[in-house]
Amino acid sequence: MSDRIDVGVIGATGMVGSRLIALLREHPWFRLAEVGASQRSAGRTLADTLPPEEADLPESILQLVLKEPGDTWTSKLILSALPAPVADQTEIALAEAGHVVVSNASSHRMRPTVPLVIPEVNAGHVELVHNQPWSGSLVTNPNCVVAGLAMALAPLHRSFGIRRVMVTTFQAISGAGRPGPEADEVVDNVIPFIRGEEEKVAREPQKILGSTVAGGGDGRGVSGIVPADFPISATCVRVPVSDGHLLSISVELGMKATPEEASASLSGFASTVGEYGLPSAPARALVVTNIAGRPQPRLDRDAEGGMTVTVGRVRACDVLDLKFLALAHNLSRGAAGAALLNAELCHATGVVSTRGLEAAAQ
Ligand code: NAP
Repeated sequence: MSDRIDVGVIGATGMVGSRLIALLREHPWFRLAEVGASQRSAGRTLADTLPPEEADLPESILQLVLKEPGDTWTSKLILSALPAPVADQTEIALAEAGHVVVSNASSHRMRPTVPLVIPEVNAGHVELVHNQPWSGSLVTNPNCVVAGLAMALAPLHRSFGIRRVMVTTFQAISGAGRPGPEADEVVDNVIPFIRGEEEKVAREPQKILGSTVAGGGDGRGVSGIVPADFPISATCVRVPVSDGHLLSISVELGMKATPEEASASLSGFASTVGEYGLPSAPARALVVTNIAGRPQPRLDRDAEGGMTVTVGRVRACDVLDLKFLALAHNLSRGAAGAALLNAELCHATGVVSTRGLEAAAQ
């Protein structure tokens, strides 16, 4: 355990940050060394700021004192759970200062040299960092809906090609962060608008499913990504569920396929991450259930620690070709677990050791 590398979590008091802290508690590769939040929390300990139900942590973690983003960070690897308006400048400043930043925020996901990665789907995209202008690096994970959507589309895209996608989401309350909506807004109700969400869902999967362009800085192989060429029409809705986003997806395929053929493609999903042995990778990133009335958030969101996406009700569509449902835990697969998996990928592929000030000094 002594050769674990130090990591910092910024945005540590939020919905995603506190999940990251829980995941880092006994991590085999990483040691939580630093935490940060806003000026409101800076100077206080995690013990003072985390809700009681999330404070079941060792004293060595609970007594960590929260920094502000502008303070000096000594950990090479920083996991960011900042809101996008704060992440805009802060994450760039950290990458400029030589840190390898793994971000949950939407701010930089679509930048041409910033990898947008689901390790099981497009691990090779991480090599884009070698084109970045900073001494450190910035790697992002997708929007919490896209985490499930891109995973479910990946095998279909590989097997049959995709022409068009329509998706309607049923999104959990925890996706709104802290403090989240008031109880009387969501009980016995559905909110048919989530600001900025449909735009992200409509553009991020194509980058994740895009192909790499050979070449690139440092001769490391990837100079850019050509996004997959299909449109997505998204309708995003908040529902009174605590955790777990359910998606209803309809797809027009490039080559026709029966629901049975599509199910076989989905069940046979081949992860691109096997060779790295990442500690947070589930044994199966995507499963297909044939149980009637599944997937359901309460029953399926925690599959393999919330890292498995569950697909069900794969059937023919009379308008497009195929329709099905997919479920992903928004805080695990959709955020904290996704960021941790990306951090592990950065470590396993040498991004942490080859980028940044310490690497330059070697
Ligand atoms: P959240 O619960 O609102 O937490 C935000 C965190 O950022 C808190 O630790 C907060 O600290 C800190 N913060 C706020 N303003 C700051 C500032 N000016 N300087 C430094 N720190 C500041 O949000 P969240 O749901 O965890 O989301 C975090 C990020 O992940 C967002 O970019 C979000 O879009 C993304 N994301 C969330 C989900 C999800 O399911 N919730 C899924 C995917 C991606 P204080 O406690 O001191 O205010």
